[in-house]
Parts: sequence; structure tokens; C-alpha cells
Amino acid sequence: MSQAPDAPLIAIPSNLNRSALTLNGSSNHYDFIIIGGGIAGLSAAYFLSQQARVVVLEKEAHCGYHSSGRSAAVFIEAYENAPVCTLTQTSKPFFLTPPDGFTDYPLMHVIGGLTVIKPDQERAAQDYLEQWSELCPHMARIDIEDMCGHVPLLRRERMVDGIFDPLLHAIDANQLLQSYRRSIKRRGGQIITGVELDSARYKDNIWRCGWGAESASAPVLINAAGAWANTVAEQCGVTPMPLTPCRRSAAVIPAPPEAASWPMVRSLEGELYFKPEQPGLMVSPQDETPSPACDAHPDDMDLAIALERFQEVCSLPIQRIHRSWAGLRTLTPDRLPIIGPATPGEHFFWLAGQGGFGVQTSPGIGQLVAATLLDQQKIPAELQAKRFS
Ligand SMILES: Cc1cc2nc3c(=O)[nH]c(=O)nc-3n(C[C@H](O)[C@H](O)[C@H](O)COP(=O)(O)OP(=O)(O)OC[C@H]3O[C@@H](n4cnc5c(N)ncnc54)[C@H](O)[C@@H]3O)c2cc1C
Repeated sequence: MSQAPDAPLIAIPSNLNRSALTLNGSSNHYDFIIIGGGIAGLSAAYFLSQQARVVVLEKEAHCGYHSSGRSAAVFIEAYENAPVCTLTQTSKPFFLTPPDGFTDYPLMHVIGGLTVIKPDQERAAQDYLEQWSELCPHMARIDIEDMCGHVPLLRRERMVDGIFDPLLHAIDANQLLQSYRRSIKRRGGQIITGVELDSARYKDNIWRCGWGAESASAPVLINAAGAWANTVAEQCGVTPMPLTPCRRSAAVIPAPPEAASWPMVRSLEGELYFKPEQPGLMVSPQDETPSPACDAHPDDMDLAIALERFQEVCSLPIQRIHRSWAGLRTLTPDRLPIIGPATPGEHFFWLAGQGGFGVQTSPGIGQLVAATLLDQQKIPAELQAKRFS
């Protein structure tokens, strides 16, 4: 039987109440079990733990070991598409003015963004500005002199001008992760690391999840397992979603001290970016190579391509690579996250497919998850998991 359009996606038990569950329930019974201690799982747990008992299960020894600890940690409003931009802009007040007690340090600061326009890209540059004119009116064309004022080592002969984004920020991703983690614990939430889900079944309106000799139960399971989201779904007997983990590689190269105040520089065609990163510049070829869910490692060829493209636009000599890494960005066909149950009433809640925007949208998505599960707020249709079911 199909539900009326405005029926809640998940019918949450009315006894959702920390004290009632603590007094009457067993100590391993929760309101929500969250699989995955990356930025998605922790941000959801943070907002849910204001009113509910949550447990986060993370298979690695520490949270944020995979994608969330390997990002470029930038906040770009003109990113991907309009719904992602809205999630990003919704997140901004949290980053700029975090709740009291969340952190003692700024979560982000402005660095600015410079998109390079090459001689054959005039039309594409106009289209790009047109696409973002309503949501990001702060972006504007900038001439070559001003570009070189920001980044003196740009190869001016390779470009006509650029687009400047004065509101591009760098996020302190580690501070963000640690602050979510501390706040969850302070509110009585559990974060259990080094445990991989090995059984999960839904019976009598309760999920029972097991790992080794331990177990936890809850009426709702939230799948925030990043690149492993479909593995978790299969373990839970739920139909997988069209999720494709894709590898992205990055390297840090030495740079003079003044590069620490350069903006992020990007190519319009999305094949290169570089930005300040201790102790020099982070460079990425913006590769997007499909990969199994795994502990990703950079491909030497991708790094070589990144450095070659870097040298095409910047005359800084590269003597060596300080460090390199890769992480998985889990993409969906429409490049939007998958949030909520695939079927109304199902108590398996997807929180996956955050692609290349999971850090910058984490407060907005976390708030949306809590508002949906605690206050029956509707998830925007374009983000709902049921669009793929
Ligand atoms: C190179 C690179 C640059 C990026 N730059 C940016 C950027 O500038 N800005 C931005 O916003 N985003 C950026 N991203 C994207 C961002 O990192 C991701 O969108 C985000 O980290 C996804 O978070 P997550 O929690 O879904 O995944 P993850 O961080 O991967 O977390 C999922 C967790 O689930 C755990 N897990 C999986 N299966 C199980 C199981 N069975 N039991 C228990 N635990 C399990 C995993 O161990 C993992 O820790 C970038 C990504 C990469 C790779």
C-alpha cells in the first residue's frame, strides 16, 4: 500500500527519550545505530545526540581515517550543482559561528579562489558565471594583473584572465571531526572504534547489529559507511544504491613561505587545483577513477599528471614531493547525496554519496538528518534515497 505523500518517511517510536531508554532499556539499546565514523556519521550523531541516544560504530582505530581525513578541506559555495550549493550555504553559519562549547578554535577562514581561464575558454567561462550568478553573485572576472597580484608565479602567457571567488574558505577538518566527536561523547553518545559490523538483522521493529561477541540494538540504523555503504546495505539485506567510489589523488610540494597566503587556484575544466597546505602547496589532478571500497593509495601516473598540469600554469619549480595520498569520493549518478529510507517506512536510513562535498555540507546534512528523524521534517525530494528505488 502506498503512503500519502506527506506521511513521515520513518515512523519513530514515541518513546524516543534518553532517560526512558536508559532507565527501562538495556545499556546497549539506542535510538539510532550509525555505521561509519567519518564526517557523515559523526555530524549526524552530533545533531541527533541533542535529543536521542546514539551509537557510532567505526571499523578503523580512529574516526575520519578514510575520506574524511583525506580531503582538501575547502568550502566552495559554487560547487557541483544548486542543491549542493544550498546544503553548503546552509552549513555556513555553523562553520562561522559554531554553537557554544563546540570548539575554541575557528573552524574555517577565507583564502579565496582563483579559476584560471585559458584562451579557448571564453564561452565556458561565461557559462560558468551565468550558472552561478544567482546563488553565488560574489564571483567576478578578474584581470591578469590582479591574478598575478594574488599568485605572482602564474604563467600569464597561458591564460587570458580568471574568475575570483572571495568567499572560498579553508576548513580545519581535523578540528571539525574532533569537535563533533567530543560533543557526542559529552552528550552521552557512544563512539566505538575498531569494530566492523558482522551481522545486522531487523526483527520485531528493532535492528540488532553484532560485531564479535558484542551487539547493539535500535529502531533505526543509519548507513554512513562512505565507500562501503553498499557493503553495509547488503549485510542488512537492503537493495544497494547506485554509488561509485572514485579515487582522488593529491600531493604536497614545497613552496616559498609567501605561498601560504595564495588563494586556491583551479582550472576551469576541472583538471587541476592547488592550494596552500603545510609545508607548501597541495596539488591534485582532480582524478575521478572508479575504485572498489578500499584504503586508497595514489597512483604514480595521476601524481605525475598533476605536477605536469601544475607546471603549465605556475612557474614554481618542483624539487620533490613532501607527501602524497588518495581518498575515495563516493559519487551518485546525479552527484547529489542519498539521504533517508529507500522505501517510506523502512528503518534503514541512507546517508551516503557525499562525493567531493561531504565536509563542507556536514553541518547542513547533519541538521537535516536530525530534523527528519526527530521532527519529521521532509527531506528535499532531489536528495531522498527513494529517487533511486
Ligand atoms: C582528495 C579528496 C579531496 C576532497 N576535498 C573535499 C573538500 O575540499 N571539501 C569537502 O567538503 N569534501 C571534500 N572531499 C570529500 C569528502 O572527503 C567526503 O565527501 C567525505 O569525507 C565523506 O564522508 P563519509 O563520512 O561519508 O565517508 P568516510 O570518511 O569514508 O567515512 C565512512 C566510514 O565508515 C567506516 N565503515 C565502513 N564500513 C564499516 C562497517 N561495516 N562497520 C563500521 N564502520 C564502517 C569507514 O571505516 C569510514 O571511516 C574530498 C575527498 C577527497 C578524497
